[in-house]
Amino acid sequence: MEKYADIIIDIAHEKVDRPFQYRIPASMENELKEGMCVKVPFGAGNKERTGYCVAIKDKPEWDVEKIKDITEIVEGHVSVEDKQMLIAAFLKRNYGSTMIQAIKTVIPAKKEVKAVERRFVHLAVPEEEAREALLTFTHKKQVAKVRLLAELLETPTLPMNLIAGKLHVTGTTVKALEKQGIVTVEVESSLRNPVKITKKETGRNTLSTGQKEIVDTVLSEFDAGVRQTYLLHGITGSGKTEVYMNLIEGMVARGKQAIVLIPEIALTYQTLLRFYTRFGDRVSVLNSTLSQGEKYDQCERAKRGEIDVMIGPRSALFTPFPNIGLIIMDEEQESSYKSENAPKYHAREVAEEVARLHGGSVLLGSATPSMEAYYRAKHGEYKLFTLKERLTGGSLPTVYTVDLREELKNGNRSIFSEKLKELMTDRLQKKEQIMLFLNRRGYAGFVSCRSCGHVMKCPHCDVSLSEHRGSRLVCHYCGYSIPAVKRCPECGSPYISGFRAGTQQIEDKVKEMFPEARVLRMDADTTGKKESYEEILSAFANREADILIGTQMIVKGHDFSNVTLVGVLAADMSLHVNDFHAAERTFALLTQAAGRAGRGKLPGNVVIQTYDPDHYAIRTAKEQDYEAFYDKEIEYRRLMNYPPVWNMLLVHVTSPDESECGSMAQQVYDIASQMISHTDENQSPDDRHLIQLIGPADATIAKVNDIYRKVIYMKTSDYAALISIKDGIEQAVKADTAMKHANISFDFNPMSGF
Ligand code: ADP
Ligand code: ZN
Ligand code: ZN
Repeated sequence: MEKYADIIIDIAHEKVDRPFQYRIPASMENELKEGMCVKVPFGAGNKERTGYCVAIKDKPEWDVEKIKDITEIVEGHVSVEDKQMLIAAFLKRNYGSTMIQAIKTVIPAKKEVKAVERRFVHLAVPEEEAREALLTFTHKKQVAKVRLLAELLETPTLPMNLIAGKLHVTGTTVKALEKQGIVTVEVESSLRNPVKITKKETGRNTLSTGQKEIVDTVLSEFDAGVRQTYLLHGITGSGKTEVYMNLIEGMVARGKQAIVLIPEIALTYQTLLRFYTRFGDRVSVLNSTLSQGEKYDQCERAKRGEIDVMIGPRSALFTPFPNIGLIIMDEEQESSYKSENAPKYHAREVAEEVARLHGGSVLLGSATPSMEAYYRAKHGEYKLFTLKERLTGGSLPTVYTVDLREELKNGNRSIFSEKLKELMTDRLQKKEQIMLFLNRRGYAGFVSCRSCGHVMKCPHCDVSLSEHRGSRLVCHYCGYSIPAVKRCPECGSPYISGFRAGTQQIEDKVKEMFPEARVLRMDADTTGKKESYEEILSAFANREADILIGTQMIVKGHDFSNVTLVGVLAADMSLHVNDFHAAERTFALLTQAAGRAGRGKLPGNVVIQTYDPDHYAIRTAKEQDYEAFYDKEIEYRRLMNYPPVWNMLLVHVTSPDESECGSMAQQVYDIASQMISHTDENQSPDDRHLIQLIGPADATIAKVNDIYRKVIYMKTSDYAALISIKDGIEQAVKADTAMKHANISFDFNPMSGF
């Protein structure tokens, strides 16, 4: 029987979503695989073009008479594009998606964009004059002018977009300064380099012994041909970024390129500036503020060898460098490293694959490593480095935990404990700043007793039950459910309910208690616009407020030297979400929140309010003891067979038709269970091939926009077994034409529920 192949021609130039069909000559039938490079006749003149095979089909989907034959398979030669296709094939195979989706993930679409005009602002007066002007503006409290001028004194030429985006200085301010003759604005066209910083590096830190040892080890292993993944566990301020920069320098000296992944939220102006001053215009950045055309151009520059370093979030991983020596992943525990759309890949695993293809290494860095990374380091899969000291001086803060059950007993029903109130009063008097952090990540209506702290949990999955339409408590892993309770099963108290408090409510209370205090609030409501996020943070950094109230957005990556008190209002909120990562996230958030206090010369305090002060995540965060946390948490993961000890596959089924959604979910369950009993026959006596199948259950949110959602989970130690189950489900679903509207997607080792 003849077979046919969908071929994408010239991936970087044509529209990727339009494959062309060709016949596979019998001689190639066994050889041709998805992702391979081929030569085909194309167009009316049958000109020979290069293309990539994205799918192999049994039936033609085109007029057979008109289908042409593939000329040949191109072998041996591995171009940048070939590597990208191999990565796309890896994504498809390991995470489940179509080849087209995978290709779109790795290759930025070419968009015809006009050469853009770029504007630069130059300082037009001598430094002394500029300093005088700066003084005048400071007196007049013209903060925008002050901000811009101070920056220009450091860096005499700045791109306009950086000024608007990062410094929050508007065009009007620039015009006013231009009129005064202090700055000039220059227009440069067609140069699409998004950042241009000419500031030169002034003096360089001598590496500490710990830093030097890491740099030397990685580079000498590289020279000896050793390729592996390293994990750098170092508290904030311990000099990780400095290590990254020295390693990149080493790679560049060896003619290699480097990719630095940084979560978008931590990709601050300060961080970028450090890389730019060290590497000049050999570094580029990919972030969400760039247009499609600018992103494409950055990739072109990488391909042509015009840059050595690419910095950016997850997607920077697909920079088409010819010869990558090192991929660095900072804050590797961040859940933003997991793609939310198919293919739902994790940047850590893909980084390892990219490095493998290029013959490079991977360095993961974190103050609170993910369980996955630390587990692998403990098992010798990764090499572990540790940095324990803050290089900037400043002591670690003193952390108090407050038991909210005791507060209730003593008649304090407010959201502020006595300890927190007392310290807040003190700091406001001393004119030092305060951050109040409401931990509501992944908040999903868990139910707890305000009197004894008891939380309603699933007996099978050991995750919190969620309140469901007010009348039932449901487990979103296995579907277990019980009627809502009126009294606490532990202590009989009637104070058992869902946990609710918002930042708005906290702001109102703060204003009531401290009417003089200047308060800023930051959450999803106040940061609708992208800019206001940095705006609020820079206002707080400029001491335009005494108290900053916010969700997890405020605990990341920003240094406020005047903050000496951090209050965590309800640490339990993230502890009991219906997700097995709850304790890990809580520990990381509390550690980060605590790290916000006492960054400057002044010593800091942290108050953690909780109903469960003895919970290991809270106890170890108070003691700032990562190792102790890890030991406890891995015990739990082992007991419950959760990742990283086992692997997990989450299958989502969605459909606008409720009964179709249900029967498709059942079908997925049946296919999986058949495949599992099939593998049972040659099962070894140990549990290596054991697969636990859980569900189908309603998703956390069972219906969104009239689309019904169900989930099925599988757990096994064997990742490959999960891949073959995924393949089996994909095939069965393709064959089933009765299901018109149902959609299935896969999530391997999910970072969040569904
Ligand atoms: P991290 O990335 O772990 O938070 P950084 O590399 O940003 O740490 O370093 C924290 C601070 O310490 C920075 O201000 C940096 O300039 C400084 N620093 C880093 N390494 C050294 C060193 N070897 N000597 C002195 N200061 C250093
Ligand atoms: Zn109770
Ligand atoms: Zn359950």
